[in-house]
Amino acid sequence: MGGIVFWTIVRIVFLLPLLWISKDYLDFQLWWLISIFAIYVVIIHPAIVQYRLFEEKNKDIIHSTLCSTCRHFDESAVLCMKYDKHPTQNFLPCNGLDWEPHKKDIEYNDLES
Ligand code: SF4
Repeated sequence: MGGIVFWTIVRIVFLLPLLWISKDYLDFQLWWLISIFAIYVVIIHPAIVQYRLFEEKNKDIIHSTLCSTCRHFDESAVLCMKYDKHPTQNFLPCNGLDWEPHKKDIEYNDLES
């Protein structure tokens, strides 16, 4: 996820000055159209594609590991926040010893009993 944010920022840093400079050389309405198109093609679309690939690559970890039910797991970064490591299908940083249920799961179970 950090890579997606980093490369999006890099693309923004290069594209916006180019668009700003090109403003002096193009008709204003055409410049707006080109700017909107360039922002979508260079910044937004690659970020969406990268995010979908990230989701697809980590789908099994997010939905079907012990970490996916643990309160220390950050789904958006696929990260164990307690150990600051990325779990995989074959690697749990705590070997399951520090698993704790989400707070919402505890409250739900309290309501049932
Ligand atoms: S504490 Fe253990 S079970 Fe919980 S997210 Fe980290 S590695 Fe996974």
